[in-house]
Amino acid sequence: MKTVVKSKGSIVTRDFHFQRHNSLLFIEEMGERAVVFTLKNLRNFARTYLEIHGDEFFYIEYERGFRLGLLRFNNTFSRIKDPIKRLEKILKFSEWTGAWQVVEWSFNSKTKKGYAIIKNSYWAEVLKPFDRPVCHNLAGYLAAIIGSAYGMELEAEEVECEAKGDERCYFIIHAID
Ligand SMILES: [Zn+2]
Repeated sequence: MKTVVKSKGSIVTRDFHFQRHNSLLFIEEMGERAVVFTLKNLRNFARTYLEIHGDEFFYIEYERGFRLGLLRFNNTFSRIKDPIKRLEKILKFSEWTGAWQVVEWSFNSKTKKGYAIIKNSYWAEVLKPFDRPVCHNLAGYLAAIIGSAYGMELEAEEVECEAKGDERCYFIIHAID
């Protein structure tokens, strides 16, 4: 049975279906094991790592997001052969998981420049309030998946962030010089 959820802005997404086998949960659509944890869990996790690593935490998170993006692009939806369609599927996937919502994005393959507007970033929520952008993980992830789709090496920088009181997280994306 499929559940259709109509979210604000009339984007229609589909809920995941979880199957339980003994003590393990699996996402039916992906055949992958899932673990449910709350933002409170993640807040403790992130703040502990930030305490230990200081600013280096953010560099590590950018790199981790980038690598995760490469894995996601190459493995999870590889049945979709058209790279831009696959990218769109991956961007929707983040909404299904409740991680963040992609409100708008664009990339111009000629100028090698683009942007993404994200709302409800879970990274912003776990680290707010903060005096600067904190969604480095998301920046790395966006650079990896958009770069993979367009066959370019890209980097992304977050210039507005919900964690520092902005209304959205805004990422500028461009080719690595
Ligand atoms: Zn942010």
